[in-house]
Amino acid sequence: MIRKKRGISRRTAVRLGLAAAVLLAALIYREAGSVPSRKSPGMLHAPGSGGAAEGRNSASPDWAISRTLNGRAHPDRPVRGGSPSASPIPQAAERRDEAAPAAAGASTARKTVYLTFDDGPSAVTPKVLEILRREGVKATFFVLGDQAKVHPVLINAIREQGNAIGNHTYNHNYKDLYSGFTHFWSQIKRTEETIRQITGERPQLVRAPGGTAGHFDDTYFHLMKQAGYLTTDWTADSGDSERKGVPAAEILKNSVRDTRSARVVLLLHDGSGHEESAKALPKIIERYKAAGYVFKTLDGSSVPVQFKARPGKGAKARAKPGKAWIAANIAPNAALFAPGQPLAVEAGKAEAVLQPGEYRMENGRYIVPLRAVVERLGGQVSWNTGTRSGRAVLNGRTIMADASGGGLVFSAGSGDQRAIVSEVTLGGGAIWVPLGDLLESAGYRLPGAASASEAQRVRAS
Ligand SMILES: [Zn+2]
Repeated sequence: MIRKKRGISRRTAVRLGLAAAVLLAALIYREAGSVPSRKSPGMLHAPGSGGAAEGRNSASPDWAISRTLNGRAHPDRPVRGGSPSASPIPQAAERRDEAAPAAAGASTARKTVYLTFDDGPSAVTPKVLEILRREGVKATFFVLGDQAKVHPVLINAIREQGNAIGNHTYNHNYKDLYSGFTHFWSQIKRTEETIRQITGERPQLVRAPGGTAGHFDDTYFHLMKQAGYLTTDWTADSGDSERKGVPAAEILKNSVRDTRSARVVLLLHDGSGHEESAKALPKIIERYKAAGYVFKTLDGSSVPVQFKARPGKGAKARAKPGKAWIAANIAPNAALFAPGQPLAVEAGKAEAVLQPGEYRMENGRYIVPLRAVVERLGGQVSWNTGTRSGRAVLNGRTIMADASGGGLVFSAGSGDQRAIVSEVTLGGGAIWVPLGDLLESAGYRLPGAASASEAQRVRAS
């Protein structure tokens, strides 16, 4: 988002420029209308994803934990403990569950299972989505940024079906992710931005590739929490990434070992090559339904499942982020996930408060409804449908907010008109403007950018 200022001294120049901009915008608008939607089914088979995912899987799958769970240690990899579901439940229990009545409605607290799918989206994802839809069940998808980028249609399909989306880093590369927190962080933010550009929402849920056990040290845990994220491991592993081509029958068996716990978070994969997981899914769902479980998506309503194990000595060599880096990155980030906070806008002696939902944040900038802010700061707003523009009077200045591409034009003290190239948009019956641009065009002086994001308070004088 590039933002630049330009001062134009002659009124005629502004008018000519505006007219040209309106014409241009109208043309672009018409052009855009004829471009096929991003959601065209042709993109379902976007090339170039399978190979990348395979390569990654063979280099760094989510294997570490499953090995411990199944009691089989691979000689080439260290065994890592910490999963709460290490003790298998006898086969007989499963059989009994299958015969049990579908809804154990008598119990007041229903048992909950959270199906989670990692490493997608891929060609397997549509199969998984179709099964979930048919079964009336929702799941949580921990997606990779690089896969989201090539499958935006699938990301939207996941979301539109009511499933939750979590962040599984950008490229799943252990070596990079666990060489130091700032590396992990940059992949989280890159993935978050990719997803936000597709769905408009930032995922707050995070799953560490390979799980946190043996990977996250206290710095990782602490800073991710401070930054507002919910890092979630699992309580049960389907074992579907234990090696290549684990058959569906084995995935099913592993997946339903524990159908007694009040909460089961089941690890599955919908990354490239995990067709067997999709094949096992209907039966997995059937078993949990029979055992009286309800299916939910993960969210912030309960404490996330996290492994206790910490990495060994190797992690001590990791470079830790400094205080300045933490102050600049971690604290402001938490505000992105704190919708419960109102935003206070101080301008001169006036103050406007926007309730959660009345404003949003994009790329570190507050986007606010023009009318609400101006009126609460003591100004007036009128709206011209014909020109798709709003006229605000604030702090003795008249500001035109043009949603057809003209940005913000205001009359400065001398009578000259000036313009700020600003993203003025229409949405939900309101004109939305970047708060900083609005205050600036109204003649307020903003202090450094630092004060803006930290305390949900913007001061301008
Ligand atoms: Zn993974």
